[in-house]
Amino acid sequence: AKEKFDAIVVGAGASGNAAAYTMAKAGLKVLQIERGEYPGSKNVQGAILYANALEKIIPDFRDEAPLERHIIEQRIWVLDDKSFVGTHYRSDDYNKPPYNRYTIIRAQFDKWFSSKVREAGALLICETTVEELLMDGQRVVGVRCDRIGGEVYADVVVLADGVNSTLARKAGLHGEVQASNVALAVKEILFMPEEVIQQRFNVKDEEGVVIEMMGTVTEGMVGTGFLYTNKDSLTIGVGCMLSDFKANPQRTAPYALLEKLKKHPSIAPLIEGGEMKEYTAHLIPEGGFHAVPRVYGDGWVIVGDSGGFVNAVHREGSNLAMTTGRMAGEAIIAAKAAGKDMTAATLKAYEHALDDSFVMKDLHKYRDMPQVLHTSPQFFSAYPSLLNRAAQTMFTVDGVDKKTKEKEIFSSFRSARRLGGLVSDAFKLWKAFR
Ligand code: FAD
Repeated sequence: AKEKFDAIVVGAGASGNAAAYTMAKAGLKVLQIERGEYPGSKNVQGAILYANALEKIIPDFRDEAPLERHIIEQRIWVLDDKSFVGTHYRSDDYNKPPYNRYTIIRAQFDKWFSSKVREAGALLICETTVEELLMDGQRVVGVRCDRIGGEVYADVVVLADGVNSTLARKAGLHGEVQASNVALAVKEILFMPEEVIQQRFNVKDEEGVVIEMMGTVTEGMVGTGFLYTNKDSLTIGVGCMLSDFKANPQRTAPYALLEKLKKHPSIAPLIEGGEMKEYTAHLIPEGGFHAVPRVYGDGWVIVGDSGGFVNAVHREGSNLAMTTGRMAGEAIIAAKAAGKDMTAATLKAYEHALDDSFVMKDLHKYRDMPQVLHTSPQFFSAYPSLLNRAAQTMFTVDGVDKKTKEKEIFSSFRSARRLGGLVSDAFKLWKAFR
C-alpha cells in the first residue's frame, strides 16, 4: 500500500519548519522534504530574528537556539556618496530580557529549528527536490520527488518552497513571478574579533546594533542596504528591485553596488579588517499586498516567501514566514480534529486567520508602497543628496547667516523638484504610509 501522510511540507526554511513543527507537535503524521544538503544550507537572510513570531511556536527558544546578539540600537541612515543623515534609537528597555530582536546566522539557526521539528515527530528528508504536485483533478493529493519511485501522498501539501514558488506556478496555482515584485539582494559575512565589534558599535557582551540604509548607493534604483552586528562577524548587504537591474543593463551589478557600499566613508571604518567568509545572493518577494496569490485550495496551502509574505518597509520576512506557517498548520490541525476533508472550503480558515493577524493588516497598510516607489526614483537619488547637502549647509559654520542658509536649502529642493513635484512627492508618501 502507498504510504500516506497527514501533511507534506515542501521546504525546511522558516515557514516550512514552523508549519511542520506545529503539526507534528499536535500529533499529525508529517513528512518534510528539503532539497538542500541540510536545513539552512540554501537559506539567505540578513538576518534579524523577531522573537515574537518564534515565541508563539517554541516559547522557550531562547534557552537553546543559536542567537548572535540582541538588538539594543536601531539606526536608519540616508546616504549620499560621502555622508549620511540618520536617526538612531537606542534604549535600555531593549536590554532587558526577554529580548525582542536578535541577529542570527541562518545556516546555524535553521539546523536548530529543524532539530526541533524532528524532535516533535516529523520525518525530514534532505537532498530531495519535489519536482511536481500530484493532482487528482483540481485537488493536490501528493508530490513527486526526484528520487526513484518518489511519489508520496498526503491529505494536504504545504508549499513552503520559497520565493521562486516553482511548484505552485507549475501546477497553475498562481502566475509567474514578476521582476517588479522581487528584489535581488547580495550580502557578505565579514569576520572580526568580538572586542572590535563592541568598540566600533559602542556595545558590550551580546548587545547588538542594526543599520538600515537607503540613498545614492542604489543609484536611483528602488532598494536598501543593511549592516548587522553578529557575535564575531558583521553582515553587510544591499538589494534592489530586479526590474530596475533589468531595465538598464549598463547599470552597476549587484556585487559592485555592495563593493561601493563597503567603500562608503561612513561604512568603511566599521567593517575594516573584516574577513569575508560567506557571499550570497537571493531574491526577496517585495510585491506586497497586491502580489499575494491565492493561498489555499483543495489539498494545498502556501506559506512564507512562496506566498509573497514580506513587509519590505519594515524589513520583516522571517516572522511572516513563521506566522503563516504556524497559522496554516493550525488550520490543518483544526480541520483534522473536526474530521473534515482538506478542501478549499475547509482550508479557507487559514486565510481568515491571516486576515485577522498583523500579516495581512500590515501588508494592506502598505499596499500602495511598491507602486509609489517604482514611479519615484527621486526618493533614491535626488532626495538623499538634497537632505545630506541641507545638513551640511546647516552644520557648517562659515559666516553665512542662517536665514540665507535656509533660503539656499529651500531653493536647492525647489530647483531639483519644483514646488509641484515636492507637494506631489509628499502626498505620495503620505498615501503610501497612511
Ligand atoms: P526559505 O527560507 O527560502 O525556504 C525555502 C526552502 O524550500 C529552502 O530551504 C529551499 O531549499 C526549499 N525548496 C525550494 N524548492 C524546493 C523543492 N522543489 N523541493 C524541496 N525543497 C525546496 N527577513 C527577516 O525577518 N529579517 C531579516 O533581516 C531579513 N533579511 C533578509 C536579507 C536578505 C538578503 C534576504 C534575501 C532576505 C531577508 N529576509 C529577512 C527575508 C527572509 O529571509 C525570508 O522571508 C524567509 O527566509 C522566508 O522563509 P521561507 O521558509 O518562506 O523560505
